[in-house]
Amino acid sequence: MIAELAEIVGAANVLTGTDMARWSRDWTGHYTGSPRVVLRPGSRDEVAAVLRFAAARGIPVVPVSGNTGLNGGALGTDALVIALDRMNRIREIRPQARVAVVEAGVIVDALNAAAEDHGLIFPLAFGASGSAMIGGVLSTNAGGANVLRYGNTRDLCLGLEVVLADGRVMDLMQALHKNNAGFDLRDLMIGAEGQLGIITGAIMKLHPRPSERATAMVAMETLDPAGALLNALQDASGNAVVAFEFMPRSFVEGHFLVDPKAREPFAAPHAVNLLIELAATRPLGDALEEVLAGWMERGIVTDAVIAQNEAQRREMWARREAAAEISFRKHPVIDTDIAVPRECVPEYLRAIEPRLRAVDPGCEVSSVAHLGDGNIHYCCYPTEAALMAPLRAEIDALAMEMNGTFSAEHGVGLSKLAPMARYKDPVALEMMRRIKAAFDPQGILNPGKTLPQG
Ligand SMILES: Cc1cc2nc3c(=O)[nH]c(=O)nc-3n(C[C@H](O)[C@H](O)[C@H](O)COP(=O)(O)OP(=O)(O)OC[C@H]3O[C@@H](n4cnc5c(N)ncnc54)[C@H](O)[C@@H]3O)c2cc1C
Repeated sequence: MIAELAEIVGAANVLTGTDMARWSRDWTGHYTGSPRVVLRPGSRDEVAAVLRFAAARGIPVVPVSGNTGLNGGALGTDALVIALDRMNRIREIRPQARVAVVEAGVIVDALNAAAEDHGLIFPLAFGASGSAMIGGVLSTNAGGANVLRYGNTRDLCLGLEVVLADGRVMDLMQALHKNNAGFDLRDLMIGAEGQLGIITGAIMKLHPRPSERATAMVAMETLDPAGALLNALQDASGNAVVAFEFMPRSFVEGHFLVDPKAREPFAAPHAVNLLIELAATRPLGDALEEVLAGWMERGIVTDAVIAQNEAQRREMWARREAAAEISFRKHPVIDTDIAVPRECVPEYLRAIEPRLRAVDPGCEVSSVAHLGDGNIHYCCYPTEAALMAPLRAEIDALAMEMNGTFSAEHGVGLSKLAPMARYKDPVALEMMRRIKAAFDPQGILNPGKTLPQG
């Protein structure tokens, strides 16, 4: 088998034994895999040939891009793991059309850097953007801190190239903003977690690089008025808010534990800390300062620091971007990415703690939220590992009671099979299984993930 695969991808790109270590564990340390072999194809045609090989023998295949996923979805046991990292060519940037044509292994930050050369940005912003790759962010429909302005990865994609389970190539590489010629298979592939095909190329949207930014840390006594503050800032700035993030005091303290250089955001500690950023391609004026001054006069905003330079802005963002390190600083940990309607976030945070304490009175909790879009990363540290499942069930249950979701950002993978089985509409689940069977009749693509066993 190794010899045949070496014919396809080259002997140097067939990894076995300890060379597979990088693809045998995930970022969280929760999940491990034991691949049969790791393959690093260099082109779409090589991916297609590997899939023909796997399909002919019924061997499972697991695609992996940056391996920064937090749900265990990119790990494979007894599978051919296909690492896309060598497919890292930016085929073309078309500044006039504001699009980039890329291979699946292009790192998010590398695309952004290339776009900057043309006065543009690729605006996906999150802590793992230095490692996560286009194929991975598309397959998880990654979100992040700028969803409020630019949307999720789905909203940044125009075209896709996908190798199907039988090795055929599905060419959806059109840079069209409108295309109603039948079912939208591009959108079906986005967020599919490697269940329906392997993404090898994409056409991604670029946006103009903001020339002006205004960034602030803002404190309040309670979170309730924060939604109204966001609306006031959007109204005053012409919808220039790109990020509106919430960090409770426990998160700020968690940052001190993972970064010895971390400093207090304000002179005195506050329960509610917001990181707010406005960005525009024309002068922003004093919208941020004026709105905050008015809200301080009314006593709703209790403290505010506006970044005076890039170093201060970076310091504000470093705290927020350390979220994953802060959450995973100790184990056992339940790290979630639920979402509720935006206006329900304060109520969710009030209601969840007593419910968790009823299960485990000694548990510790922390959270951080993309408040602007209702997505909460709620974290709980149980006193014993046996309480993880019931605590997680409470976090998911309350989100569902508020008409929210148990999976807003990171996807299902292995980590959310239980809530998928419990909460996903059974008809929707049945249709997903049928779609999976249509694309992958042998069930060789990333088996055991995303779809709970029926
Ligand atoms: C520090 C940190 C911060 C993070 N912050 C955020 C955040 O703010 N928002 C957010 O949404 N996520 C966040 N994540 C999660 C993670 O970065 C995202 O899920 C990201 O999209 C994964 O990209 P990746 O290239 O690492 O994909 P991988 O981890 O390699 O793969 C993810 C999934 O996609 C599948 N896949 C990979 N490549 C392909 C392909 N080419 N074709 C088909 N399927 C494929 C894999 O099988 C797996 O199921 C964070 C992770 C870390 C470690």
